[in-house]
Amino acid sequence: MKKRVLITGAAGFLGSHLCERFLKEGFHVIAMDNLITGNLRNIEEFFKLESFEFYHHDVSKFVHVPGELDYILHFASPASPIDYLKIPIQTLKVGSLGTHNLLGLAKAKNARMLIASTSEVYGDPDVHPQPETYWGNVNPIGPRGVYDEAKRFQEAMTMAYHTYHGVETRIVRIFNTYGPKMRLNDGRALPAFVGQALRGEDITVFGDGSQTRSFCFVDDLIEGIYRLLLSEYAQPVNIGNPDEITIKEFAEEVVKLTGTNSKVIYKDLPVDDPKQRRPDITRAKEILGWEPKVKRSEGLKKTLEYFKSLPQDELFKKELNFGS
Ligand code: UDP
Repeated sequence: MKKRVLITGAAGFLGSHLCERFLKEGFHVIAMDNLITGNLRNIEEFFKLESFEFYHHDVSKFVHVPGELDYILHFASPASPIDYLKIPIQTLKVGSLGTHNLLGLAKAKNARMLIASTSEVYGDPDVHPQPETYWGNVNPIGPRGVYDEAKRFQEAMTMAYHTYHGVETRIVRIFNTYGPKMRLNDGRALPAFVGQALRGEDITVFGDGSQTRSFCFVDDLIEGIYRLLLSEYAQPVNIGNPDEITIKEFAEEVVKLTGTNSKVIYKDLPVDDPKQRRPDITRAKEILGWEPKVKRSEGLKKTLEYFKSLPQDELFKKELNFGS
């Protein structure tokens, strides 16, 4: 009998990569998404497989899955500042109510549940790099609050189910990640820069570009998540690439890689934009024997190939239709 895994947010960037990995590992994958920010194109190739099924469902509402479940991976959530500014209530609900529903499902099915938390739980950090023991510096009522606080609540709820109900839980704190199947118009730095470069527009760096991020290639991230799920460790684990870079340098790398004539221009820094971010991955190394392998030059090349392979009109589609 194949092990059965439920993946929420399955049509999104990370969810679709998880579907692929778990199918390759011989699992039966039950994919779920409400398609607000996800895209069926990301998982279309799996529909022909007997070991894959898809539910069009919003996990903020009661979740029912027939049959047994061994694992649940909760990856449903808008995950870019632009998205959660446009759909703040859904962002809050999927992280809080959605997590509660799925923890209830995990308890009922006796399944192990892994939640996708985030480096945003550290807010604009005054400890650098960020270890899991740092409690963070988050503005609850700022524009990022809807995401950050939902994710912090999600961690609290998950630990409570672990402690009080004995549910087996895993918490991954995901740092900035990039790669194929990222949405070109999600407003994040990399798709924004690549899209601008390919359209021949100015590259918009926010602030003076001195803020830092540390970008992890998606294959490395998926490997870390897979190991964490199968580990016996219930405390949060940072997964990310500690190779830190300023956003200005990052934009320059995209200019060089794409060979564009676009020039870099500077715009206002969004409110509460973290000044620096780099994961301390000591815990992941010790507990999971994991560290990232893919260099940014290699990862960026693969990501650019993906963006170039998209239909041309995709490049000019700037807005998402978020529906109701
Ligand atoms: N950023 C930028 N130009 C853009 C989009 C983003 O300079 O067109 C900056 C953004 O202000 C932030 C960094 O790039 O400092 C990373 O942004 P992203 O949205 O990718 O992730 P997050 O801020 O959540 O880490």
